[in-house]
Amino acid sequence: MKELIQLLKNFFGYTSFRPLQAEVIERILQKRDSLVLMPTGGGKSICFQLPAIYLPGTAVVVSPLIALMKDQVGGLTANGIPAVALNSSMPEEEKQQIKQRCIQGKAKLLYLSPEGLIGELDWLLPQMNISLIAIDEAHCVSHWGHDFRPEYTQLAVLKERFPGVPVVALTATADKITRLDIMKQLKLDDPQVFISSFDRPNLSLTVHRGLGKKEKITAILHFIRAHKEQSGIIYCMKRSDTEELAGLLASYRIPATAYHAGLSSALREKSQDDFINDRVEVICATIAFGMGIDKSNIRWVIHYNMPGSIENYYQEIGRAGRDGVKSDTLLFYSLGDVVLQRRFAEESGQSEVNLEKLNRMQRYCETDVCRRRILLSYFGEETEHDCGNCDVCRNPPQRFDGSVLVQKALSAILRTGERIGMQMLIDILRASGRAELIHLGYHTLKTYGAGRDLPYKAWKEYLYQMLQLGYVEIDYASAGVLKVTPLGRKVLFGEKQALLATYREPEAIARPAREKREKKASPKARPIYPVKAGTIEETLMDSLRQLRRQIAQQENVPAYIVFSDDALEDMVDKKPLTAGAFSDIRGVGKVKLEKYGNVFVALIRHILNKA
Ligand code: ADP
Ligand code: ZN
Repeated sequence: MKELIQLLKNFFGYTSFRPLQAEVIERILQKRDSLVLMPTGGGKSICFQLPAIYLPGTAVVVSPLIALMKDQVGGLTANGIPAVALNSSMPEEEKQQIKQRCIQGKAKLLYLSPEGLIGELDWLLPQMNISLIAIDEAHCVSHWGHDFRPEYTQLAVLKERFPGVPVVALTATADKITRLDIMKQLKLDDPQVFISSFDRPNLSLTVHRGLGKKEKITAILHFIRAHKEQSGIIYCMKRSDTEELAGLLASYRIPATAYHAGLSSALREKSQDDFINDRVEVICATIAFGMGIDKSNIRWVIHYNMPGSIENYYQEIGRAGRDGVKSDTLLFYSLGDVVLQRRFAEESGQSEVNLEKLNRMQRYCETDVCRRRILLSYFGEETEHDCGNCDVCRNPPQRFDGSVLVQKALSAILRTGERIGMQMLIDILRASGRAELIHLGYHTLKTYGAGRDLPYKAWKEYLYQMLQLGYVEIDYASAGVLKVTPLGRKVLFGEKQALLATYREPEAIARPAREKREKKASPKARPIYPVKAGTIEETLMDSLRQLRRQIAQQENVPAYIVFSDDALEDMVDKKPLTAGAFSDIRGVGKVKLEKYGNVFVALIRHILNKA
């Protein structure tokens, strides 16, 4: 074990294993099979990369996407680990060279697509000394997984052809059936299943509900201002929204790009490339974006619309903070999204399952208990404590007796004959006097204007709560009109008290972004981390990021391949002034110490001397 930790430090610059990494590695060294379930960012790669370095021969890694392979090979190469990838689009000569390196045992890891691997079963593979086989994104083998790939099912042949070679299958998403299916399909031999906690404590969770489009945009601008120069993703349900948002952000001088399946592959590639290499800060995308993105320094994810299931949501927010550094997530939730998602679910082949998934997602959005507890319990994990890093924990709801308020709303609904939606109800309560309302005669109702004292947004929030508490329900079949439930009638007739949570304006809306369109924001780069403005730490972080960017450009790799955000943060913390001290930084192995130690130490000295 000591030897392995030494390798971990030398090659990756880390001094200890993450949970389960050591156990998985040991299992591989015993030449036995395993299935590894870890959340995105959990550290799956080290589980096979480290034994690949340790063992004689070459590890074969199956990966579904070229982008993923490229990223991993880039990261390994930057750490001085000989790794190669074969893909069909390469020139023949290059392929031959790579194959030779594998046959001679000069490469420690070979990355292949499943098709590529099957194609080499009788050619390259038998000539190699294979140390282990790793199957990444293993859920692709199962029909039950969300990303089934038929090529993956052929991988069962591996156990037959190379019975003595340990196989490790890894995935970030697999429920029970998928899990069993993976082991069966791959014909794993008495596999041990390793399941790590799916908690990602570095991700903050926030939900804003019921905001209109304008308010959402204000909130987004505010949020991005607070995350200046940090990479982030905005997920949208509609393609047109991705383009509209990217254009809007650009008009505020926020470098942004759009990504969706309707763009040409060249455009998509460019968007993705610009984002990965930090040429744009924000990518506005549909769910088509993300699979195969290993960018470790994504600092935030916004959902412009509510996703259709907690699995999707968790996977999408999981793209933030892979490096373990604090990252923020924000989800906008509206009934409009629910209506649309319900339609998708109903039209899907498995409407029952999908509607139930949607229900769970909606309940997550509406909860007033710790959100992380809901997520973890959804994935079958029990937790004893509130997380302290979600909006509910940070700002627990305060309750008051809202019976009268509820009665006003319910009475108005009943007096219209249960024929109105939320907007009309609020207009009646607030006596808006708009033409349609007058036309329908609602201004003559007894409850007209009964809720004048509350602003529109507050009413909307209280109606969401009434829905959630089961006093009213939405009749999706008839244009989303509101119906009073039997429980609601009890409140209406004073048989039951209604406790509501006091409405508070979301912070982002209460303090709108001050910057105006086209007005150039301060050109000075702001720190990634909440270091205090004007401190030596801020200057240091700025300079380190600049140096990292320069090196990345020179070497034509993404900045996070040079050093992760986590490594920069550690440098700011420890302020190493010698090469020896620099080698203690997280993420600094031998190769990076030699390559970058002097320039980074010189820069840190320079900044500290100036201060
Ligand atoms: P996954 O494949 O599970 O999504 P990765 O293997 O990409 O996760 O690891 C996520 C991040 O965590 C990477 O930046 C990686 O370098 C880092 N990491 C992995 N193992 C460790 C460790 N033992 N100590 C510190 N950082 C680690
Ligand atoms: Zn919480």
